[in-house]
Amino acid sequence: SPMLDVRDLRVVYPNGNEALKSISFTANAGDIIAVIGRSGAGKSTLLRCINGLQEATVGSVTLDGEVVTNLRGEQLRKARRYIGFVWQEYNLVERLPTITNVLTGRLAYVNPLAAFIGYFGKYDREIALKSLERVNLLNRAKFRADRLSGGEKQRVAIARAIAQEPKILLADEPVASLDPELSVQVMSDLARVARELGVLTLINIHDVELAKQYS
Ligand code: ADP
Repeated sequence: SPMLDVRDLRVVYPNGNEALKSISFTANAGDIIAVIGRSGAGKSTLLRCINGLQEATVGSVTLDGEVVTNLRGEQLRKARRYIGFVWQEYNLVERLPTITNVLTGRLAYVNPLAAFIGYFGKYDREIALKSLERVNLLNRAKFRADRLSGGEKQRVAIARAIAQEPKILLADEPVASLDPELSVQVMSDLARVARELGVLTLINIHDVELAKQYS
């Protein structure tokens, strides 16, 4: 069975906006998929349905055999452990070191009290360092995030997402805040890491040329 199964997914917002009409598709581990469409087409809504930030009005999203649509509380938290997310605006904690930002990708795996006091085990630290290495930023591990360039920040965000050991990696316009040169670098890193790890990846992107190069 496919890693991702989106079936008859429809989303109508409370104000009556129909963001997704009824979409169905499946995808497998290792696929790298560019979701292309004009602004307002519903790309973000699709990703937010997959990671549980948005309720489906009709239909379902199944990830590795588990329905992830319309979950709540503990079930939602558990499902989201396996879903890595990369935002347009990075969402790093700017005043914390790079490595700590990547370690937050491990939060769902550690005891909440341990996490609260900043305790991560050896395995968590190792995987965080490995993830930073994959995006070639090991030399920035101790830098505060606010000292990094935009491209570096987004590569740290990619490292944080893969530190989660996700079943699916979702990226919502990951290079829209970067200039063209950095966009190419970040997209190529994202696609390379996804390929190396064989993790299913969905990338919302409005730049069709970039999309063609990397999906
Ligand atoms: P895209 O990511 O392709 O730009 P979105 O998924 O953000 O598209 O939006 C799809 C449609 O849903 C748009 O018409 C947008 O205006 C509308 N929309 C998005 N979020 C909301 C919301 N919270 N409430 C009402 N309408 C929304």
